[in-house]
Amino acid sequence: MLIKNAKLVDRKEELDILIKDGRFTSIEKNIDKENEMDIIDAKGCIVTPTFVNPHMHLDKVYTAVGGRESKVETLEESIEIMHDLKREYTVENVKRRALRAIKDCVSFGTTKIRTSVDIDNIIDLIGLKGVLAAKEECKEICDIQIIAFPQEGIFTNKGTEELLWEAMEAGADVIGGMPAAEWTDEYSKKHVNLVFEIAKSYDVDIDMHIDQTKDIFARSLEYTAMRTLEENYHGRVTGGHCTSISYQNDAHAKKVMELLKLVDFNVCTNPQVLAIMGIDSEPRTRGVTRIREMVEMGINVATAQDTICDGFHIFGTGDPLDYGLLCAYISQYNTPASVKIIFNMITKNAAKILSVDDKYGIEVGNKADLNIIDAPNIQEAFRLRADRKYVIKNGKIIVENKSTTKFNK
Ligand SMILES: [Zn+2]
Repeated sequence: MLIKNAKLVDRKEELDILIKDGRFTSIEKNIDKENEMDIIDAKGCIVTPTFVNPHMHLDKVYTAVGGRESKVETLEESIEIMHDLKREYTVENVKRRALRAIKDCVSFGTTKIRTSVDIDNIIDLIGLKGVLAAKEECKEICDIQIIAFPQEGIFTNKGTEELLWEAMEAGADVIGGMPAAEWTDEYSKKHVNLVFEIAKSYDVDIDMHIDQTKDIFARSLEYTAMRTLEENYHGRVTGGHCTSISYQNDAHAKKVMELLKLVDFNVCTNPQVLAIMGIDSEPRTRGVTRIREMVEMGINVATAQDTICDGFHIFGTGDPLDYGLLCAYISQYNTPASVKIIFNMITKNAAKILSVDDKYGIEVGNKADLNIIDAPNIQEAFRLRADRKYVIKNGKIIVENKSTTKFNK
């Protein structure tokens, strides 16, 4: 396949991209067509790597379609309503909803997703089995990593410890955690310790929901980072949300961020959770971490579509240009230069969380995964939430949109 007149993010001139056997083989000006080669004229549109969503809940998606009657306004109420929804899960309905979400994400140019799947005594391994089935069915269009996630806590939810080990045996790729779900700080630490024990026995990455409230005394982030240092797990641990640090004093937060940097810790912020941070007085809780400070310190920060239409959050499209734009607003990135920071958060920073960064991106030798977006640059792509004209994975067209009209050179 040959893609003509592609505008790459870091290049001024338009280039041609040659793809053979599913990999980029040449990226230059004016590559000549070879016999029987498919040609796509990008017409000066921006061509990006495909997007990566590093934090999602494919077992929960679309459980709130149809406006189920509930008055969910706080995080605690959301967890309660999710318990009710979870009791209705079957392998088949989890698979069906997960498939729908994966296909929606792919239509927006995402070809890699890391998803948590609840493991607890309410749902046992039903969610995991459903998402594993969806993963298998979608393997040509999207790479899925599954996190075994103790949403209800481990020691607060009898049986979860054993179920986590079973989930790893059953095919989970990553071990998750939710230390704040434990009743005491002591048990939150025990929770983190067990997560490291499981991670080391299976040699897998760790991806936990950490300090996702505005509790100024929450300390699981620094404890997890310290355990990362002790276990020499540098670069393999990700904290989702890490919100509490935004409410802690600057001196303390700075020290924690220095430790995060030291252990090459990944942070994933999910700006749409501001919808569920609680009904509090003004100024309202935003529900994100110290995004700008972390970025300035060189900590790997990504952003994600945490949920789509479930008991926690009734909106969400799965479009990285959607939640990326919200992340830009919430962190007040409003210059052409800072658009690149947000763009990195939905592409290479997210890919680093999934440990695929060395093969990721539009470079000769890498897997040929790319999006052709109907915009002249990434700023316009975000502003318009521009259509994806083509999504290409492993050198094959998996999405084609013929009706794009916004950007015509
Ligand atoms: Zn989450």
